[in-house]
Amino acid sequence: KITSSKQAIEYEHEYAAHNYHPIPVVFKKASGVDVWDIEDNHYLDFLSCYSAVNQGHRHPKIIEAAKSQLDLLTLSSRAFHNDKFAEFAKFACEYFNYESILPMNTGAEAVETGLKLARRWGYLKKGIPENQAIVLALENNFHGRTFGAISLSVDPESRDHFGPFLDTLTAKRDSNEFIRYGVIDDLKRVLEAKGDKVAAIILEPIQGEAGIVVPPKGYLNEVQSLCKQYNCLMICDEIQTGIGRTGKMLCYEHTEGCKPDVVLLGKAISGGVLPVSAVLANKDVMSVFTPGSHGSTFGGNPLASAVAIASLEVIRDEKLTENAQAMGDYLKEQLNEVASKSNGIISEVRGVGLLTAIVIDSGKTNGKSAWDLCLAMKDRGILAKPTHEHIIRLSPPLVITKDQIDVAVKVIDECIQTF
Ligand code: PLP
Repeated sequence: KITSSKQAIEYEHEYAAHNYHPIPVVFKKASGVDVWDIEDNHYLDFLSCYSAVNQGHRHPKIIEAAKSQLDLLTLSSRAFHNDKFAEFAKFACEYFNYESILPMNTGAEAVETGLKLARRWGYLKKGIPENQAIVLALENNFHGRTFGAISLSVDPESRDHFGPFLDTLTAKRDSNEFIRYGVIDDLKRVLEAKGDKVAAIILEPIQGEAGIVVPPKGYLNEVQSLCKQYNCLMICDEIQTGIGRTGKMLCYEHTEGCKPDVVLLGKAISGGVLPVSAVLANKDVMSVFTPGSHGSTFGGNPLASAVAIASLEVIRDEKLTENAQAMGDYLKEQLNEVASKSNGIISEVRGVGLLTAIVIDSGKTNGKSAWDLCLAMKDRGILAKPTHEHIIRLSPPLVITKDQIDVAVKVIDECIQTF
């Protein structure tokens, strides 16, 4: 049995693959925004497990739904029906205003499903010649770690020594198919050249892992009209931005008139209790999947379905989307004040709702990085992680209060002063 944080870190280092570089904190218990380590040190969570615990850690209503379902049924597989998936399917379609849902488990699986859906739709509905369909992705995207997702990526850390990739998906920097995020003319150029073979464009409405990159106003509408013009699907990856995070239920709702053909959900759809993901689309698109063409043993399992219903109810009933907007505005206001007296160390505060980031000017920090700042914050009880050398994402659970924000901002201010 593990008895100290030091021991846990040593065991993990010795016995687990080194595919992460965590901040050295060992979570033992959590509730809402609060986290405790093995030594009972207390922290405020300003990462929310990459936006998976928007409802706060172990929200009592979600835990209750899970416990009740555990006493009844956890898995039927889709070889049979189960009552909870049926309930979840209707609930989710009405909740998000789409006609059809396909349940999976992780975010990356939702992405894979979206890509498969797009290709099938391209062949069966658009009439693209077999094996020639292209899915376009954008600069600095992050859609997960599977082969489909990393084939879309331009990040060498994600791609190096994993090739060959799914070649028609690739958005390589050295190719003339390269499309900068937020630059509509790049997308236009590629569609003009290859539009007849393009099945879909996949994009994040705000790029999360890239460092909270917000596109210019109206960009999503322009993408959507190009999709209409060239008869291709617009796939919106809302895995990180969705479920209230940015102050709207789904981030694309910030853009009036925008309605993607396909929406990918994950993370907070289960409030961080279980891996649950989903693809939403209307029936004319979703109908290209037929029995045997796609599936998942655990996708749509009754435990996940019960948890997902409760998670979405919590967001709606507790008005967490509204709180994300109000607290996000407050957080940015307070951070801007810290930035204004940081001697330029914080060069920018950005984001929408509670998907926010501070940008560190490494020229002004005596060689210290965003990572060092996160370590200093951790020592004072605030948990956050850099997305790049110089960007720190601040994305607390949406149940956060002003008082908790004040504590975190004071800590950030103190840490900046020591730089
Ligand atoms: N898409 C986006 C936008 C994400 O932010 C992530 C995870 O960070 C994923 C996909 C992959 O989700 P998962 O880690 O659950 O596979």
